[in-house]
Amino acid sequence: MEGLLYNSWDIINLYIMNEKATFFGHPIGLRTLFLTEMWERMSYYGMRGIMVLFMTAGLTGINPGLNFSAAEANAIYGAYIGLVYFMVVPGGWLADNIFGHQKAVLAGALIITLGHFTLAIPITQTFFLGLLFIILGTGLLKGNISTIVGRLYEDNDSMRDSGYTIFYMSINIGSVLGFLICGGLGEKLGWHWGFGAAGFGMAFGAYQFIKFRHLLGDAGAKPNDMSIASRTKYKNIFYIASLVLAILIILLFFGFFSIDPVSFAESYAYFLIIIAGLYFVFLFVFAGLTPAEKKNLLLLFFLFLGAAAFWSGFDQSGGSLTLFARDFTNLDFFGYLLPVSYINLINPIFVVIFAPIFAGIWTNLALKNLDPSLPIKFAIGLFFMSISFIVMIYAVEAAMTYGQVGIQWLLITYLLHTWGELALSPIGLSAFSRYSPKKYTGQMFGLWFTASAIGGVLAGLLGGEATNEGLESMSPIFSFMITYYLVIGVFLLALAFFIKPAKDLKEAPDEKMTSSN
Ligand code: GLN
Repeated sequence: MEGLLYNSWDIINLYIMNEKATFFGHPIGLRTLFLTEMWERMSYYGMRGIMVLFMTAGLTGINPGLNFSAAEANAIYGAYIGLVYFMVVPGGWLADNIFGHQKAVLAGALIITLGHFTLAIPITQTFFLGLLFIILGTGLLKGNISTIVGRLYEDNDSMRDSGYTIFYMSINIGSVLGFLICGGLGEKLGWHWGFGAAGFGMAFGAYQFIKFRHLLGDAGAKPNDMSIASRTKYKNIFYIASLVLAILIILLFFGFFSIDPVSFAESYAYFLIIIAGLYFVFLFVFAGLTPAEKKNLLLLFFLFLGAAAFWSGFDQSGGSLTLFARDFTNLDFFGYLLPVSYINLINPIFVVIFAPIFAGIWTNLALKNLDPSLPIKFAIGLFFMSISFIVMIYAVEAAMTYGQVGIQWLLITYLLHTWGELALSPIGLSAFSRYSPKKYTGQMFGLWFTASAIGGVLAGLLGGEATNEGLESMSPIFSFMITYYLVIGVFLLALAFFIKPAKDLKEAPDEKMTSSN
């Protein structure tokens, strides 16, 4: 059996993993990153698809859970997303200054694997411990792998944008696999099987990264140049921080202190907003930027606001919308009762279908010189988000009348989410890599993911409010969200007339004005 497996792996290597080949015309290292990110996202989204279901399931029954209230479960879900994406900031710092990006990704993959296997142990304390490992591991992996993608190309290589597009595909193929495998196993066989499957997925990813890491060459292999004294100082900071963290984890694990999820999520949301605000002020006032760089920074700041708002709606998927799917949606599919988390498949499948269409639309418009500017694209993203919750208001009304509604409501909602995502997310990633002050590109990636972090915590808080009283509490919160996305969208639209990128800082200094990415 082992021989058979080994031979199949060799055959795969020969045909698909041909080391001399390119990857869809891109540097072959992109394949290593593609597969690592695919498995990482498989584990991340697979687990995320069932985490709220697990937390809110009763203590008894065939698939017992933690019996948390909807508000608590949503707050934990939101704080978890917020921590996952915020840890990208220290993860980037560690890679830049101590480990280099490749080692950081490898360590991250192993820690995430450990996290999912910890979740697979069926006791309550290990749930939080497992989440903590995933948070720390993803902090090391997610931003740094995105940085290595960029480093596979020369500074002004026009392939980079399409490299990121291919990379975005891996994210969505990974999440399809995750929802299918972890969601299916978790809901039908037992939650911990789902968590364990996520662990195996990430383990494949880690194995694959180890085996094919050499294909990355120097991209992200070494940390920044610095004196031995500075490196030692950084290492010491890292050791002390790790020690403090380990002590906190042990105290938490043995129940020396407990945290109220809702107030933690609230304080954490303030913390993130203040930190991000201060960081923008620091860059603006003290970082010695040129007027052109400041102009671009201002643009990125507004995009940051738009992105944070957008994710606060998008991430309802694993929270309030998952509970809506479980409690008020008829999941019967030709006589087979679909796992609740399968509804989440709609988004990544639509991303894979619509991504080329969106790219085509932007390219066509650009040919006619009509390519919308960045704030307009972000505004479009927010308008789709706003409309998606109008659809949900009707879905809630229908559920109030009939008790249950068909799948079409969530289908349309997720279709709108996907269109919004495609107008905002891949474009935002490349805008942050392109318009950031050059010296600060790594940290600006961190800020981009901080927008996801803020969005995630807000999603948990809003989702908790929305589901606390069942259907009754959904309409007012969803109505609030409709207005809030609309207002920010209109604001960005108005802004588009006033703020344009000063110039593309990654290109020649005399580059003419560009109006979009
Ligand atoms: N879906 C994308 C990913 O998983 C973006 C998520 C986000 O930034 N919130 O990478």
